[in-house]
Amino acid sequence: MVRALYPGSFDPVTNGHLDVLKRASSLFDEVLVAVAQNDSKSALFSTEERIRLIQQSTQDLPNIRITSFQGLLVDFARKQDARAIIRGLRAISDFEYEFQMALMNRSLEPKLETLFLMPSEEYTYLSSRLVKEVSRLGGDISRFVPHCVVAALKERNAQTGLTP
Ligand code: ADP
Repeated sequence: MVRALYPGSFDPVTNGHLDVLKRASSLFDEVLVAVAQNDSKSALFSTEERIRLIQQSTQDLPNIRITSFQGLLVDFARKQDARAIIRGLRAISDFEYEFQMALMNRSLEPKLETLFLMPSEEYTYLSSRLVKEVSRLGGDISRFVPHCVVAALKERNAQTGLTP
């Protein structure tokens, strides 16, 4: 049983995340999606909401589990008996930060490998931040995120009175 961990903020999950997740799920027995409970970043959706949106978007993938984590990723990976960390690489701009992070994690836990997966070209410019911005300004985001996220963003924008 080889398990991989896919950590991130997922605020909210996009089709780019799902593309990477599908690729990872075909390589490992189980992929554990780990939603970071990062207090320092001000998230639009709560951890529970982010988990629920990923759950609703991955019902067709049998070997996915979703949870949240706090603290050092390598400690969580060790506790979960994960062999690899999955990260998505969209562009050169992702590379430097991801490379530093991967080498730091390797020095903290030499047995844990970081695996980078490239999404389909159509998702290489996609980020949760951009999706939130376009949605807030009233743009159509239905090509970029699953249906449940379109609805959740619409509701959140209406609640916060942010839509123009
Ligand atoms: P973080 O806050 O850790 O960057 P994100 O939720 O933004 O978390 O992303 C989690 C992982 O998914 C990261 O490795 C990120 O590079 C990757 N990712 C995000 N969007 C995309 C995308 N459109 N295509 C491929 N990978 C992506």
